[in-house]
Amino acid sequence: MDREPEKPQDSLFDVAVMAAIPHPLTYRFPPSLSISPGQRVLVPLANRKATGVVLGPTSRLAPGIEVRDALGAIDPEPALSSELVRLGLWISDYYFAPPGEVFRAMLPLRQATRRARHACLTEEGRQKLQELAASLLEESRKSQDAALLAYLDRRPGASLGILQRKFPSAYPRALDQKWVTVEEVKKERTRRQVLAVRLAGPVPEHPPWLTPVAKRIIEALEQQGPAEDHRPLLEAARAQLAHLRKLNQAGLIELREATPALPLEGRRRGGDSALPSGDAEAPQLTPAQATVLSELFPRVDSGEFSVVLLHGVTGSGKTEVYLHLIARCLERGRSALMLVPEIALTPAMQSLFYSRFGEQIALLHSGLTEKERDDAWWRVRRNEAKVVLGTRSAVFAPLANLGAVIVDEEHDSSYKQDETPRYHGRDVAVVRAQFAGAVALLGSATPSLESYWNGREGKYHLVKLEERIGGRKLAAVEVVDMRQEFRETHTQVPLSRKLKAEIEAQIRASAQTMLLLNRRGYSWFLLCRSCGETQRCVNCSVSLTYHRREHRLTCHYCGYSTAVPSLCPACGSEYLHYVGEGTEKIEQKFAELFPGARVARLDRDVARRRGEFLRVLSDFREGKIDILVGTQLIAKGHDFPGVTLVGVVSADIGLGLPDFRAAERTFQLVTQVAGRAGRGDAPGRVLVQTFYPDHYAIRLAAEQNFDGFFSKEMAFRRMMHYPPITALANVVAQHEKLERAAQVAKEMGEFFNRVEGQYPGIKILGPGPAPLAKVERRYRIQYLLKSASRSTLHALLKQLAHHCTQSGLQPREVMIDVDPVTLM
Ligand SMILES: [Zn+2]
Ligand SMILES: [Zn+2]
Repeated sequence: MDREPEKPQDSLFDVAVMAAIPHPLTYRFPPSLSISPGQRVLVPLANRKATGVVLGPTSRLAPGIEVRDALGAIDPEPALSSELVRLGLWISDYYFAPPGEVFRAMLPLRQATRRARHACLTEEGRQKLQELAASLLEESRKSQDAALLAYLDRRPGASLGILQRKFPSAYPRALDQKWVTVEEVKKERTRRQVLAVRLAGPVPEHPPWLTPVAKRIIEALEQQGPAEDHRPLLEAARAQLAHLRKLNQAGLIELREATPALPLEGRRRGGDSALPSGDAEAPQLTPAQATVLSELFPRVDSGEFSVVLLHGVTGSGKTEVYLHLIARCLERGRSALMLVPEIALTPAMQSLFYSRFGEQIALLHSGLTEKERDDAWWRVRRNEAKVVLGTRSAVFAPLANLGAVIVDEEHDSSYKQDETPRYHGRDVAVVRAQFAGAVALLGSATPSLESYWNGREGKYHLVKLEERIGGRKLAAVEVVDMRQEFRETHTQVPLSRKLKAEIEAQIRASAQTMLLLNRRGYSWFLLCRSCGETQRCVNCSVSLTYHRREHRLTCHYCGYSTAVPSLCPACGSEYLHYVGEGTEKIEQKFAELFPGARVARLDRDVARRRGEFLRVLSDFREGKIDILVGTQLIAKGHDFPGVTLVGVVSADIGLGLPDFRAAERTFQLVTQVAGRAGRGDAPGRVLVQTFYPDHYAIRLAAEQNFDGFFSKEMAFRRMMHYPPITALANVVAQHEKLERAAQVAKEMGEFFNRVEGQYPGIKILGPGPAPLAKVERRYRIQYLLKSASRSTLHALLKQLAHHCTQSGLQPREVMIDVDPVTLM
């Protein structure tokens, strides 16, 4: 059954290696291996093994480039479709991210790794090998030393056990002579598959060349029928996997990846014991929803790309529009993708999706275990799940024949990834829809300025839902001027008399209240009243926040935490004072202020304890909690019909930040949290406490006047040359040593001076310290690049990236952030 050896015709392929390398590398693959774009492969990189994604055959090889042999394929079939390979290359180009790192982000698959010690050739070892190979003495050329070195040259990273067994005398000598180094490297393991096996057709007369093993396999299949799991079959036939593969190649049997019995991800993760079956009736559509859908359906049916922005006020039934659009895609035999900012925190959304689409759903988000994510991902890849609901990285879900990409709460900044590749999930969703010929539907009650601008300019098709469903009114919002409160009471307290009285009335009426304070922890920081020092993070230029539960000071940027000192570390004074209120303190204060009321808290600290988070959510929904205190997490898409009062304890925290999106964020947050009030039958009220009652972001959010805010904010962006009027990029030189960061910034500055003239209309601001001048031990020096023309900006950044590589700057020393959502 062994075939005639074919004439070796090695093929060269470009591979995006999962490492910080700015361009693909070329490898040689044996002709026996069938390789296609999108396939994951194992390749040598320096003296280790690395995973890569095949991009395509190499068209032209630069002379003098040494091509190494690839080590093999990881999956039998491409993990990524050509459409997703194209998307990855687009991201790499647009966001200036190494292609391998983009594909790493796109393939959230398990890389079961196990620490192992491997041997590699040193430079001396390589020289010795050449010396021995060129030797005139045959005994040198054929020595065990030469054999060992040649072996390691062919197989970098061979295991120590093999070397010891194969070369018992040469191995200790090679170590001694430092021809070989031993290092601890990660060994990547391929996925363990379960294969389904069946006969390709009847085998009437067993071919004479069948080996006894092959005969046993075929006989077993003839007797017992197709096998869902190859392992018992192998046992029965006393065969190896390789035998199956040979029979498969010979066309006698068929192998495919089996469908393991999978748990529904949401069943356990969502905390719902009994999920509905997937045939729940959709509620009656309102005329406004029907109108929106009548705009969307022809777009799905046409198979042409378009972008629709759905601006719908809070409680206007956007989710029902999404569900109908997805159902339409399925009817047309297409798949659908829906992104949400925080899926793990919205179990209600999960249940709703399961109730409509049942087992056709796959969830993809970071709250899953590796195994769950792996299973869900392959279920999608195998076309068994045609609807994906997930967070940012689910935009890469391997769905085929995509009909619609939906981005809910499209304004949410969590769609932007804050590490390489720094892509924006919403913008990538639009490009993905473009490559797939699908509809991109962006939905929000407070669209980003970028998207709304595109809607106004006609680049996106703008549709609206202007009324709440069921004829419910938007909650009435009242602004409480905290300056006046201070003048009249002469005390600085977190609660105005007005808000306090309203909460008391709520408790008497057994109605629920939600309070927003966008600052977690107990106190903002610890201040010494003697010398004025605050306790700062050792890694970042920020104050540490006091967390009472752990009784520790914690950094919200890098996670550093330290014990609370009893004396000031700077001057030894004991007059340490906790300044400001966080959610933890407000929760405690309220429990004292409103005895008998049931008070709970929701913020990232609670969310970390998953069980507690889900319990608070369900208790609040069931009316077992009177007052819920929380950060912006409580503003995110929750639907609590019992809430009739929403209080914003302070709307000011975000306004003072040195960031051009400060007003936009404040407007969005206040509007969104106000939207949580009055979603049930009783009308809702909202009180917003602020020291800046005249600020347009506060005033227009109180009026829930989106168009008014848009015009006002656009005037500011236009004047200051900020997005969406201008394309923006943030370029940061960063290093643990301030001198090195300054040197990198200087290098970039000289480059900008040289080339600025070639890029008319571009504005380069800087260098200056970033608003957070030090984060995670790294000093940061910033340039801000602005251009009316996106292509001009891209061309300049491309030249900059090239220049940085040429002049030896390390990728981690230069951070390029295209379309930044924050300049902090
Ligand atoms: Zn002090
Ligand atoms: Zn820190």
